Amino acid sequence: MELLRMEQISKIYASGIRYQTALHPVDLAIEEGEFVAIVGPSGGGKSTLLSILGCLNRPDGGRYFVQGQAVNWKSGRQLAALRGGVLATIFQGFELIPHWTVIENVELGLRFRPMPKSVRSEVVVSTLKQVGMLRSGHKYPSELSGGEQQRVAIARALTASPKVLLADEPTGNLDPDTAAAIMEIFTTLHAQGMTLVMVTHDMHLAARAQRQLTISQGQLQVRGDTHVGATS
Ligand code: ADP
Repeated sequence: MELLRMEQISKIYASGIRYQTALHPVDLAIEEGEFVAIVGPSGGGKSTLLSILGCLNRPDGGRYFVQGQAVNWKSGRQLAALRGGVLATIFQGFELIPHWTVIENVELGLRFRPMPKSVRSEVVVSTLKQVGMLRSGHKYPSELSGGEQQRVAIARALTASPKVLLADEPTGNLDPDTAAAIMEIFTTLHAQGMTLVMVTHDMHLAARAQRQLTISQGQLQVRGDTHVGATS
């Protein structure tokens, strides 16, 4: 089943009097359960594409459908619901709140979900367990290694039971062994049915995805695939 669909999505950034076309019109479809890697040179448009997929950035043209429903970029309510529901994004820099404990950081993923405290605790415990960080619940991010911080960020992303995990260079700050351990988590999530979209510079990591999309100078290139199109 198709989960995400972009039709002619484009993005132009204005900086001062200059305009930068970050995305030429892109057509893209991602099926439920797929593991997709987005690769390409720095400045090519990878993060822009991922941030629009995650409803964190607004396109200048085109249409985007999540589970068949058109995203209304003017509806803050719909965008917040998507970001805190079906879609979840993790970043290269982990984006944890430094003066909050691991548990408090993970609880943040549930902020839009009213639920009894006991249920909240259960969700936090089960997601921390899933990423192997249960024992560190009372630590602060500064007391954790980079790999551990990324695990916590993944746990936070998983609390709302998203259908899609979007990851922007998730291992970019990590050494190869730690990166491999994070990839193991992704592989397990994928085996459990999660849809994953990962931006990476690392071709070895990208090769572990089922499908690789290359984006360069804002143009999506399609290789050996039938249900994805790219136009310029
Ligand atoms: P990548 O993730 O592949 O490195 P990006 O999506 O970050 O590429 O950037 C694509 C292009 O858009 C680059 O030329 C970049 O300089 C430009 N860009 C990205 N974000 C902004 C922004 N907020 N304002 C202006 N230009 C931007």
